[in-house]
Amino acid sequence: MSISVAILGSGPGGFYAADALLKSGVDCRIDIIERLPTPFGLIRGGVAPDNQTTKRVAKSFERTALKDEVRYFGNVEVGRDVSIDELRALYDAVVLAVGAPLDRPLGIPGEDKAGVFGSAAFVGWYNAHPDFRDLNPDLNTRAVAVIGNGNVAIDITRVLVKTRSEMMAADLADYAAEAIHDAPIADVYMFGRRGPVEAKFTNVELREMGRLEDCVSVVDPAQLPDAVTGDWSDRDRRLREKNLATLREFAAMTPDGKSKRAHFVFHAAPVEVLGGDKVEGLRLERTRVEGGRAVGTGEFFEVKCGLVIAAIGYTSEPIDGIAFDDKRGIVANSNGRVGDGVYAVGWVKRGPTGVIGTNKPDGQSVAADIRADFPQGKKPGREAFEKLLKEKGVRWVTYSEWQTIDLREIENAPPGAPRRKFTTIEEMLAALE
Ligand SMILES: Cc1cc2nc3c(=O)[nH]c(=O)nc-3n(C[C@H](O)[C@H](O)[C@H](O)COP(=O)(O)OP(=O)(O)OC[C@H]3O[C@@H](n4cnc5c(N)ncnc54)[C@H](O)[C@@H]3O)c2cc1C
Repeated sequence: MSISVAILGSGPGGFYAADALLKSGVDCRIDIIERLPTPFGLIRGGVAPDNQTTKRVAKSFERTALKDEVRYFGNVEVGRDVSIDELRALYDAVVLAVGAPLDRPLGIPGEDKAGVFGSAAFVGWYNAHPDFRDLNPDLNTRAVAVIGNGNVAIDITRVLVKTRSEMMAADLADYAAEAIHDAPIADVYMFGRRGPVEAKFTNVELREMGRLEDCVSVVDPAQLPDAVTGDWSDRDRRLREKNLATLREFAAMTPDGKSKRAHFVFHAAPVEVLGGDKVEGLRLERTRVEGGRAVGTGEFFEVKCGLVIAAIGYTSEPIDGIAFDDKRGIVANSNGRVGDGVYAVGWVKRGPTGVIGTNKPDGQSVAADIRADFPQGKKPGREAFEKLLKEKGVRWVTYSEWQTIDLREIENAPPGAPRRKFTTIEEMLAALE
């Protein structure tokens, strides 16, 4: 009998696991269970709307979804529609691939003020994620503070300062395009606790900030060291040298009539969000780096801003019946083994680091574990699962139904754009009628 595998989550972690299982030669049937009608996790809801090349990886996931052994069950939320225990009873192996959807808190006074958002919420909003389409951030401000020195901070800044024409070929949500392009935003500050050498930007993303139509990147040359010092591997040192060279180019740039500025500010740790009920500014402490860590210098400064977006990392959501590692914000696991037929891959296994391809080895490792753990299948899997969903009245979305949603979004695309995303689950389901 084939091994029945349930993969929970249809992001890169889930799809790489399905693909690796199929390639491993294990005789299995795989059901991918996803809480949204739409597949692909952060490829749809996280990767920036103007980064369509990256999103193309979904095409290879589609080939996996269309394999005979694989079924997609969209619009089924584990924890709401079906429990882990129910799935464990029906499937030989359950693979958790639910990602890390929650924002880490800033942990400073004032972060509950209106106008402070985490990047999961803010990025979800401009990417038309149904959970965040009603976020309604007030962008009526001249200055925005983005906290963090990784690619997500750059994505957010870029989306806020690009012109309407630069975003023509993107799938930015309509309401977000309207709000962003009508906003008076002139300055976006990216604050990093540590220095330019420690910043986690990749060079391609950083360089793009020097080629924007109506925005100049601003760097204080005094913040740039002459050389990369510290204990780095050769590869890391080269990457950091490239970033430093790019930042030096930015430091020498002139506005050339551009109306917006993206400020790279290093050695600045936020200590308090200022204002009444609503954000009016941010207070920061200057830092120096000691042993790779940011240490406060006791010198403080303030910037005025009407919006604060924290891009400082994510955490997974605890799952009923599964032990959780609170410190790391992931499910407790030993190299992907959670225990007794349950496994983890992707961000819920490792935490929120790396690019899409970083999740691939997790798939190979879980496929090897399942192959070793199950010489053959014993549990009923798919038919019993479908029966359970019917009994519960759950309206699941099949892969071919997702393809219909996909087609409708593409048909509805504004001129030049790849698609116009549906922004609610109701709209998606209505498109199937
Ligand atoms: C803002 C942002 C931008 C990024 N940009 C890039 C980029 O440009 N290039 C790049 O290579 N990488 C990028 N990444 C990283 C990349 O997106 C991740 O490495 C990858 O998506 C992690 O995969 P995952 O499967 O672990 O999680 P996810 O992609 O988050 O997938 C998890 C899936 O599980 C589903 N799920 C959650 N809970 C449940 C539940 N209870 N029941 C059923 N389903 C559930 C979710 O809806 C989601 O579809 C970006 C990340 C972020 C946050």
